[in-house]
Amino acid sequence: MKTIYLDNAATTRVLQTAADAMLEYARGKYYNPSAGYRAALEVRHDIADAAGVIASVIGADPHEIVFTSCATESNNHVFSCGVKNKKGNVVISAVEHASVYESAMRLKSKGADVRIVDPDPNGRVTAEKVAAAVDENTAFVSVIHCSNETGVINDIAVISSAVKAIAPKAVIHSDGVQAFCKIPVNVKALGVDLYSMSAHKVGGMKGTGALYIRNGFNMQPFIAGGGQQDGRRSGTENVCGIMSFAAAAAAYRNAARSFDANALRNIFVERFGSGELSRINGGSPNSGYIVSISFRGLKGEIIAHEMDDRGIMIGLGSACSTHIRSNRVLGSMGVPKEFAEGSVRISFSPRTTEDDARTAADALDEITKDLRQRTGR
Ligand code: PLP
Repeated sequence: MKTIYLDNAATTRVLQTAADAMLEYARGKYYNPSAGYRAALEVRHDIADAAGVIASVIGADPHEIVFTSCATESNNHVFSCGVKNKKGNVVISAVEHASVYESAMRLKSKGADVRIVDPDPNGRVTAEKVAAAVDENTAFVSVIHCSNETGVINDIAVISSAVKAIAPKAVIHSDGVQAFCKIPVNVKALGVDLYSMSAHKVGGMKGTGALYIRNGFNMQPFIAGGGQQDGRRSGTENVCGIMSFAAAAAAYRNAARSFDANALRNIFVERFGSGELSRINGGSPNSGYIVSISFRGLKGEIIAHEMDDRGIMIGLGSACSTHIRSNRVLGSMGVPKEFAEGSVRISFSPRTTEDDARTAADALDEITKDLRQRTGR
C-alpha cells in the first residue's frame, strides 16, 4: 500500500544530506571536539560552522546559538530566567506547546504568579492581550511564534515592543520550533532574548535542539561540567546531531523557498472550512504547514485511525499530547467541545505534493461521511 505521511509537525523524515552528515561524523570525524589534536580541532570548527548555519536562518550571530538535546530542553531551561524568590510574574499564552506550558505550571506550583493569555477566536495571540497581562513586575514572557496546532503566526515583534514599553527588563522568549526554516525569521527584528528550535521538524535527527541566546544576555548554564559551548551547556557535544541539524536546516530552508504550503492548506480550507459539520481552526497569517480540522460530533482518534487504515498518516494535535489529550489550545480559542473532540491535525513538508493533499482530503471526506452514516451523527 502506498503511504502518505501528513504528520510533519510531529516529525519529518531525515533528509539525505542530514543522514550523510551524521554518518560522516559518526564514522569519519568521530573525534571529541574538546581534544587537543588537529582532527579534533577541525570538528570544533565544524560545530562553529554549524552554529553559523542555524544562526543565519534566524538572523543571529553564530555564538548566540547553544545546541541542546531538543526544543523541550530549550523551552524548559528558559524558565530559569523566570521569577526568582517569587519576585516578578510570568506571562505565557494559552496556545503554548506543552514544554512551555508545563514549565510555567511548575513555576506556578512553587508559588509564582503565572498569567495566561488567551488567543483570539482565530488562534492569534494579540499584543493588546499580552500587554494587558503584563505590568512593571513582569520578569518573563513567552509567546509561541507559529502554533504547532493551527499554524497561526503570532506577531512577536509587536508583542515584544508592547511588553518592553511596560516592563523594559522583562525577558522575552519565543518558541520558534514550527516557524524555523518555514517562514522568514529575524530574531533581532522580533526583539526576543531567547528563541527555541528543533532539528527533527526540518529534516534533522530527533534529539537535537538549539536555543538562541541574545548577545550580552546573561543566562545561567544549562548543565555544569566540562565547560563545553563556552560553559553555557556542558557535556560532549552531540556532533552527529549538530552537523546533521545544520545540513538539514540549509536544505530545508532552500526547499521551503519554492514550496507553497498555503496552497496545500487551502485545499482543506476550501473543502472543510465552511458548513455546519466541520470547521478549520486557526486563521491568518498562517505558515500553511499545518491545518487543524474539527468534525462536529465525531472523534479525532477514530478519524485518524481510519485514515491510517488507508495508509494516510495524520496527527491529532501535538504528538506529545496525543495520549493525554486536553483541548487546552482549541478550548482557549473557543472551539466548542463537540467540535474539539473531532479534531485532526494535518501537516506538510516541502516533500508533500498536491496529489498527496487531494488524496488525503478525499479520504477525509469519505471517512467522515461514512462515520456519520454509521453513527447517525
Ligand atoms: N515546541 C513546539 C512548538 C513543538 O511543535 C515541539 C514538538 O512537537 C516542541 C516544542 C518540542 O520539540 P522537541 O521534540 O525537539 O523536544
